Formats: sequence, structure tokens, C-alpha cells
Amino acid sequence: MLEVHVLGVSSARPAHGRHVSGSVVDTPTGQIVVDCGEGFQERMLVHNSQLKACDMKQRLRHTRLRLLLLTHGHLDHCWGVLPMLQTMSLDGRNKPLAVAGPISDISFDALLANGANAILNDPGIVKVDLARQWQQWWSLGATNSELGYDITWFAVDFSSGERWLKLNPESGECSLLDNPPVLMDGVSVHPHETLHSVPSCGWSIRLADKAGRFEREKAVEMNLDSEQKRNLAAGKNVENNGELLKAEDFRGLPRVAPCVLISGDTGAGAPSFSKIEVGPTLLIHEATYTSERVDRARQWLHSTSQDAAHAATEMSAKHLLLTHYSSRIEDTSQLLAEAREIHPSTAAAVDGDIIKMDLEGGISHLRYDGRGWSQLHDSF
Ligand SMILES: [Zn+2]
Repeated sequence: MLEVHVLGVSSARPAHGRHVSGSVVDTPTGQIVVDCGEGFQERMLVHNSQLKACDMKQRLRHTRLRLLLLTHGHLDHCWGVLPMLQTMSLDGRNKPLAVAGPISDISFDALLANGANAILNDPGIVKVDLARQWQQWWSLGATNSELGYDITWFAVDFSSGERWLKLNPESGECSLLDNPPVLMDGVSVHPHETLHSVPSCGWSIRLADKAGRFEREKAVEMNLDSEQKRNLAAGKNVENNGELLKAEDFRGLPRVAPCVLISGDTGAGAPSFSKIEVGPTLLIHEATYTSERVDRARQWLHSTSQDAAHAATEMSAKHLLLTHYSSRIEDTSQLLAEAREIHPSTAAAVDGDIIKMDLEGGISHLRYDGRGWSQLHDSF
């Protein structure tokens, strides 16, 4: 089961009861935060106490958090990181954490040449480049010795393919990785470069595919004994009346694991999206504007909801969830209607929504109404 808790759907600033960006993705091997705008840790707390009060079995816990993914350095996407790291320190965290995000090629080369604490004053590096911000966070106490738990920092650059650095602020070490790092066990996590005014990417999070179901009925029909059935179910071939029965012939089709891709901020037509081979179950894509404001979307490298729908169609995403609305948008019905003309299985997120995806391809969209979460009827 893959589960996404959407905790902020507003762009740039809080508006209409919506908060700035940040989500938690719950996987069987741990939780992942994707973007972490201002006040994110407080939203996690409130959401968690609502889950508890409503007797939901889910919990968002810092102790289950393994990975923090950032889509870019704009502050509405990362201003909440440092306070959250410090809270985890106050809570006595001892589990390691990984942080990953995109940086510019100039920062990348400077870090590679001069180490994690290289001076990044080239005018070509934007002020909010994550490499610059990480250095500031380190100077304010986001280091292993000050926090009391280990953080590994991974920076990715897309200027010539995909290049990765692993940074250690205390030793100053900075190593170029031969292969993309395994950011979390049991889950494939990949960046997809997006089009924005600063280095940016979306992140896909995919569980491992599972073998098909054991076809017990077939074994029963053949009058196999319980030991034969047990062996076939465990993937072992067996003999039956001198005939070899192959375990693979007693398996249904492999179950394609659920995958979510969270776009971060992007203009229309990010080239990396057209290279995705297996589309995600769910694309969570920014939809800052309605179609009337397409000029603004092009100017600021954001998307309309129709751009989001085109992206979903292009990458063969089964379902699309819109997010990151301009503060001018109070009612999302126009955004939704425009996107559904292109990609019918689309919904518009609100803060607190929970999307559950299972191994059978099922998806459910739950919304909080002040008393509890229930399945939305007019959704995917
Ligand atoms: Zn944004």
C-alpha cells in the first residue's frame, strides 16, 4: 500500500485556508516528506491528531520518516525543513535521514571541486539554490553532531544527464556518485527534471512489483495434496504422477506496484515527463492557473490545469490530482472541469486529503470533513 497525505495545496503563500506545499508519502518501509514549506511540522502534528481522534489507523510520525525530498529551493517548498530537523533532534531521534534535491550545474561543479563547504558566490547561482540553503542550514545547526542523528545530503544536477553528489558538511567531503543513490530501501525514488525559474524536479516514488497471486483453485482442481500446494505457492516446482508441475504456471500476472509522481513547480511540457516509460498510478501536478491565465503560466513557468492534464496524458498516468493553486483561485471547479476535458480521471486536492493506492491497482481518495475522512464520490 502506498498512501499520500497532502498537507498543502496553495502556491506561494497560504490562502483560503490552504497551506503552502508539502506532502507525506507513507510506504511499507517508512515515510517520505516531499517538500516542506513554512509551518509544515505543525500541519503534520494537527493532521496526526485528527487521524488519532477519528480512529484512523494511519499515523504520521517523525520516527518513521526516512527521506526528505525537495523539488526546488523556493521558500514555499522548503522553509519548514530546518525547524523540523531541529524538532526531531529535540525528540531524541537516532535514526538516520536522507535529504535530496536538485541544484544548479554551477553549484554542483563548485562543490565537486572545493568540497561541501565551497563558497558559492558565482552570480549564475540563484539565491535560493538548495546548495546555498543547505550550507546556511548547516551553519545554523543542521549537522550530525549538533542534531544528534545522521543526515546524508544528496544533490542532483540535470545539466548533462543525471549527476549525483553526496555531501558531508562536517568533513567537507563531497563525492561524485557513479550511480544514482538508493535513497530508501524497498522503494524506487527518482527525480524528473521540470521547467522552472530555479533548478527543479518532480519525484516519483514506486513500490516494488509483486509476483502474481497463487492460483489455488487450479491446484485444488488437480487434486494436489497440501504439501504440493505449499511448495507451488512458495515458488517451487513439484512432481505429480510423474509429471513436473512448474510453479510459474500456478501464478497470475505480476501485480504492478503503485507509483506516485509529485511534480513540484513546473511550466508546461517538461521534457523528462515524455521519457517516463511506465506511467505512475497517480500524478500530483501543480495547477497554479486556469486557462484564462495561460500567459502568466508561461511567463512564470507554472502550469494551468490543462497543462497538468496534458502531462498526465503524456506520461500515461492513470489518475491526476491537481494542487498548488494561485491565491486568486477560491473555487477549484473551473480548474477541475478544464483538466477533465483532457484527462477524465482527475481530482482537485484540498489540504488533509489522503490518497490510498493498493497492489491491485485500486485507488481511493479520502477527504476530512471536520469529523472524519470519507471516500470522495466525485473523484477518480
Ligand atoms: Zn511553489
